[in-house]
Amino acid sequence: MANAPEVYVNGRYLPAGEAHVSFFDWGFQFGDGVYEVISSWQGMMFRLDDHLDRLDASMHAARLDPGLDRAQWRDAVVEVTRRSGLRDAGTRIIVSRGAQPPGTSDLRACRPNVFIAASPYLFLGTEEQRVKGIRLMVAHQRGMPADTLDPRYKHISRLQYNLARIEAAEAGYDDVGWLSHDGSVQEAPRSNLFAVRAGVLQTPAAGILHGITRMPFCELAYELGIPVEVRPLTAFDLFVADEVFTCSTSGAALPVREVSGRSVRAAVPGPITRRLQDAYWRIRAEGRHGTPVGPD
Ligand code: PLP
Repeated sequence: MANAPEVYVNGRYLPAGEAHVSFFDWGFQFGDGVYEVISSWQGMMFRLDDHLDRLDASMHAARLDPGLDRAQWRDAVVEVTRRSGLRDAGTRIIVSRGAQPPGTSDLRACRPNVFIAASPYLFLGTEEQRVKGIRLMVAHQRGMPADTLDPRYKHISRLQYNLARIEAAEAGYDDVGWLSHDGSVQEAPRSNLFAVRAGVLQTPAAGILHGITRMPFCELAYELGIPVEVRPLTAFDLFVADEVFTCSTSGAALPVREVSGRSVRAAVPGPITRRLQDAYWRIRAEGRHGTPVGPD
């Protein structure tokens, strides 16, 4: 049974109802901040240090320094999750720019706010979608180029992604992926993209968030003897793939059965998707790359 949710706010553990953010926080006002979502399964948090490495990179690049060292981050994330009593959880960290002190317009004077909360693990797709696959649309709008906002920032400004999601939902699709200005496949709003063609696993090389789940899928493919190509892909590669799947902390591998009106060739989930998915849940169940989060 989960306990009443508690949220970590700048070093304090507060009941969820008492965790507030200032109206003047730049994260709230302008989507200026970065975040992480870390999953726990059967009481084991997956790849905590990889998430904290990515958070550290996002914060450093975004000039956000809330002043916590690695041990403090680890303690706070594990403690919030442990206090939730959830064995299957999604623990969200948000670091926002904070509010400017009165009398200055210098953004560097803002003190970042840190929020951490654990919620029940929520699968990205429904059970039916995990079995039958999803319909993925290629968005008309292009992804953000690295010289504008590098997709490696895991940032909280989601307007662009949310507009693509709404566009896809209105067109009757389950999810959406987008291309860069030069036509390379980038990613989906909450997932990285994979294709399989003639037994080879393919995933875009650049213009993407470096997904923490993408990593073990590539590693597991190597372990299973499945060749992996990390290279630029175009929409054509998705259209002609034997298998396509999205991959994320919340969705693991979610098979795709159609890409913008083109049926994916193999029945879903395709054989390689299934092998990788099974291997992924096996390492999760074994607690590989895991940090125990209780409850005690
Ligand atoms: N790409 C984007 C834009 C995302 O927002 C996410 C997750 O939220 C991912 C990819 C997948 O990353 P991860 O495997 O770390 O969940």
